[in-house]
Amino acid sequence: TALPATEPVRTTCPYCGTGCGVLGGPSPATKGDSAHPTNFGRVCAKGSALGETLGLENRLLHPIVNGERASMSDALDLVARRFYETIETHGPDSVAFYVSGQLLTEDYYVANKLMKGFIGSGNIDTNSRLCMASSVAGHKRAFGEDVVPCCYEDLDEADLVVLTGSNAAWCHPILFRRITDARQSRGTKIVTIDPRRTATAADADLFLPVNPGTDVLLFNGLFSYLARTGAVDLDYIGRSTSGFAQALERAGLDAPDIDAVAEICGVPRDDIEAFYTLFAKTQRVVTVYSQGVNQSSRGTDKVNAIINCHLATGRIGRPGMGPFSFTGQPNAMGGREVGGLANQLAAHMNFEEADLDRVRRFWNAPRLAAKAGLKAVDMFDALLEGRIKAMWVMGTNPAASLPDGNRVREALKKCEFLVVSDCVADTDTAKHADVLLPAAGWGEKDGTVTNSERRISRQRAFMPLPGETLPDWKFVAEIAQRMGFADAFDYRRPADIFREHAALSGFENRGARVFDISGLAEISDAEFESLHPVQWPVTGERRHGKQRLFGDGKYPAPDGRACFIAVAHHGPVNAADPDFPLVLNTGRLRDQWHTMTRTGEVAKLMMQAPEPVLEISAADAAAFAIADAGLAEVTSSWGRAIARVRISSAQRPGQIFLPMHWTDAMSAFGSPGRAVNPACDAVSGQPELKHTPARVRPF
Ligand code: SF4
Repeated sequence: TALPATEPVRTTCPYCGTGCGVLGGPSPATKGDSAHPTNFGRVCAKGSALGETLGLENRLLHPIVNGERASMSDALDLVARRFYETIETHGPDSVAFYVSGQLLTEDYYVANKLMKGFIGSGNIDTNSRLCMASSVAGHKRAFGEDVVPCCYEDLDEADLVVLTGSNAAWCHPILFRRITDARQSRGTKIVTIDPRRTATAADADLFLPVNPGTDVLLFNGLFSYLARTGAVDLDYIGRSTSGFAQALERAGLDAPDIDAVAEICGVPRDDIEAFYTLFAKTQRVVTVYSQGVNQSSRGTDKVNAIINCHLATGRIGRPGMGPFSFTGQPNAMGGREVGGLANQLAAHMNFEEADLDRVRRFWNAPRLAAKAGLKAVDMFDALLEGRIKAMWVMGTNPAASLPDGNRVREALKKCEFLVVSDCVADTDTAKHADVLLPAAGWGEKDGTVTNSERRISRQRAFMPLPGETLPDWKFVAEIAQRMGFADAFDYRRPADIFREHAALSGFENRGARVFDISGLAEISDAEFESLHPVQWPVTGERRHGKQRLFGDGKYPAPDGRACFIAVAHHGPVNAADPDFPLVLNTGRLRDQWHTMTRTGEVAKLMMQAPEPVLEISAADAAAFAIADAGLAEVTSSWGRAIARVRISSAQRPGQIFLPMHWTDAMSAFGSPGRAVNPACDAVSGQPELKHTPARVRPF
């Protein structure tokens, strides 16, 4: 594409895992792409404002070393030398990359290849750990691989959509619109399960305001109910699954009857029964789960409790049926595909000898890491403790987004050598950097992303690279070449990387892994440029991808069966107590994205909430002498946050809510993340961002 574009360029919205197609340029205009099979031209408020975020205010345009502008070659030489020396002195596990679901697949691929393949450490993790790691772990336990069986068309074709821990009306608005359209056209029922009365809950046919942390019990109760009422599919269970009896027995211990579920979940018995009855009698059911399920110290068990109900009824992989994880970030899925999580290898391979051997040979990487690296929260603990000495943060702001933000800031201060590559100059993380590398932004960079339904779409550039900015993959390749790995990182363009990624997915795969896009391994540059959105797997025989998976009852586990997982209800790791009697929940606003570096620039998006707002019930406001529209201080065992008060009927007594977006750089009130609980799910390593014991007082 000649840049700047003179005609609209087909690209993908960078804000959420829906992955809407948009037309970018001629700068600054953007609008929905009516040819994209995700959104058919629709965009939400954030997507429609993309054109207003393309200015260069607050952009990082040149390399900065120790606070001073530096030449690009000096900055890159320094980064390569300091990483090389640290590895030589302290070993490969003394360095780490912390990357982002905002990266394109090609950026992610080379970062993972450098760290795991050539530095020889597993220490690359991603902010997607905060987003969907519990879904990954749940899918792997149930299916044998991290595979989302559904497609968006299932939302159009379901007769019942259950949304649990998902405020899709705000966080995936285009998908929620598809669900409400289905209600109009075919009478689809919507059930929402959430401790808060969100916009999604307000629009539901049935709303179950469960107590926080009781999802496993609710779905164990459903599993038991389905078995008791003969609604399970015994033929499917016998043919395509294992572990049914043990999982059902375990579920029955938690939830012997509806009364037991109603009491612990804190929901009227009749509403629980209405949900169970509706689920049992409706064949076409999709259960959507998102951060309210994932961001939990029991997140993986919650995912498996949901999947158990779909396996028990055989409702998976057929039109209008299945468990459906909505990813938060635009390329959380792409990061999963290339091994961006510390505990997996590229192309959905695992740290197992056969996979290690395969990747080692494919990359010609004798130093390939032999074991998993540190997950996000553990990685920053290791930084604080001095076990990690050099870190590269790409396209994310962990000082603001990780839990226990005060501890994360201490860790960043302690880091002996911190590199941050970002579009933005003054994030809470960037202020601790020894070297700042100016990264290309949306509209300037070029590559692919994968959305929640496994659809690979192109993000295309329609503006020139400003200043000295470069795409992240280019920075990684430059550093790798300076560290002595020139041959393995001799990429000229994103298409080179994509072809290699696609080839690795098919390398000695032989049908063992569903993630296989080897049908794209030999596409030309021109074919990459014009690549139409396609759902993986894409193989030589299946060039146009596949909408739904597992409809044949065959799974990528060694025995070809899906596995029921016996899960037990446990409360959150840190419960409320007399000192911290309230439960702080954090989440998104409709019109903001992450730490607001882009959406915070748009006046009309800021109108929804110009400052951080604490939502609290009238009863708690009275009990703690908090005035509506006044200021309140929220304190936890880990830190404190200040916010404007809104007394809200959406909050149940005992629970409060803060939006996640604000940073120290964006608000005099500071970042809410400083107060958030760092407990993690033992299986997935995902932090419990939805449940922090806290207290409030007037400020
Ligand atoms: Fe962008 Fe998500 Fe809105 Fe679609 S729903 S326009 S991907 S923010």
